[in-house]
Amino acid sequence: MELIACPTCGRIQVDLFTLVKEVEKVLMPELELPVKVAVMGCIVNGPGEAEGADVAVFAGDRRGIIYVQGQKVANVTEEEILPRLLQECKAFEAKVKAGEARLGEKLVEIKPPDPIGELGSGAAKIAAGQVAQVSVGQTG
Ligand code: SF4
Repeated sequence: MELIACPTCGRIQVDLFTLVKEVEKVLMPELELPVKVAVMGCIVNGPGEAEGADVAVFAGDRRGIIYVQGQKVANVTEEEILPRLLQECKAFEAKVKAGEARLGEKLVEIKPPDPIGELGSGAAKIAAGQVAQVSVGQTG
């Protein structure tokens, strides 16, 4: 497995360091092929920065959107990110082994969602009057 993590910036909406460590710990022993996995701290610029990944997760606002070869496959809660990411990576790896997909075949070409939508930036949501405050990082 090859892991790509965003460099982080002011837009970050999660504890990326912890998430990357967890992804490494959980996925690394499970994957045999060099599947390229991107773990991004937000949905705003993350898609462009995850270019070239086979599987990518864009975290933020206590959820994660998962893409496999450019296709959105899941929008899960923060707690579900790791198990779902593992499930999707293993399914993708199985497809590669069966000759149904190829590593690095498709770039992650993702049209970012509505900025005040499901994983849009907290600032935009607050500006739009959708929420008074947006939680950042992990709690509990
Ligand atoms: S993915 Fe988001 S948080 Fe990470 S560097 Fe890019 S803009 Fe910043």
